[in-house]
Amino acid sequence: MTGAEPIDIAEAEALLAAEGAEFYSLMARAGAVRERHKGRSVTLCGILNAKSGRCPEDCAFCAQSAHHRSGAPIYPLVSSDRIVERAHEVEGMGAREYSIVTAGSSVRSDREIGEICEALGRLQSEGRMLRCASLGTLPEKTLARLRDAGLTNYHHNLETARSYFPSVCSTHDYEDDVDTVRRAKSAGLEVCSGGIFGLGESPAQRVELAVTLRELDVDSIPLNFLNPIPGTPLEGQNDLTPLDCLKIVAVYRLMMPAKDIYVCGGRELNLRDLQSWIFMAGANGMMVGNYLTTRGREHTLDLTMIRDLGLTVRPLGAPA
Ligand code: SF4
Repeated sequence: MTGAEPIDIAEAEALLAAEGAEFYSLMARAGAVRERHKGRSVTLCGILNAKSGRCPEDCAFCAQSAHHRSGAPIYPLVSSDRIVERAHEVEGMGAREYSIVTAGSSVRSDREIGEICEALGRLQSEGRMLRCASLGTLPEKTLARLRDAGLTNYHHNLETARSYFPSVCSTHDYEDDVDTVRRAKSAGLEVCSGGIFGLGESPAQRVELAVTLRELDVDSIPLNFLNPIPGTPLEGQNDLTPLDCLKIVAVYRLMMPAKDIYVCGGRELNLRDLQSWIFMAGANGMMVGNYLTTRGREHTLDLTMIRDLGLTVRPLGAPA
């Protein structure tokens, strides 16, 4: 077994049920595939919640939806100075990728896009970080404008399987998100798209999302695990064990052996003492620092964890 061939749906579903010795075999197999394709370096990314709250969409897991009462911060788009300042903060934590994230269906205001473009231009001229944005369902013209201003990557999660999406969001269609991924790719951007687990989806639906992402040929896949926020419809939901999370990471690695797989939101809460296992499970990257509306752990703990595992943080410009 070389790890070059992606596993099929039946095997993926069977592996999500692995227990005992089979679970440990799965970890070893996925870790070996990760090392074959990604070596021993891991990529860190950091984000800015650049515009928070009052989102008209009703995603059941999200603290920023105007349909829920989570008490999450509400503020308009921050200045280009703040966008650049936050990039430097996450760079200081070891991140080589930086994403500017806004709440809302999409950023439509010309002034707001202009502010983001100005920050992107400054960051591009510094040349130290990959520049990503997550600004909703943008038209190709706006994506091209952002790309020309210095954007390298576009992030847009599909969140969950097509068959489960209506249970999670009623205010837009799954195809809107799929189309956004396609537009970002055709604009020449690297695309980061994944989902969030623990929403009540079945194991088969976890595999279904991976199949869709594989068909879309996205470049990197962020995996988030539900942090159930009080005031959202998923408050109190607690579906995931640490081993469930690790099996999801491993199955995604085996289904998409050469892709970048990141563990992002909900890592500390859901994996607890098993956070360091994400790399054995096949992840080759993770988010550092705070998440959109919840706190991450101290980044020095993450850097120590990576070093203790015999791994290194991948600097900008290093080959995959
Ligand atoms: S996930 Fe995005 S689109 Fe959905 S409610 Fe939250 S901010 Fe809005």
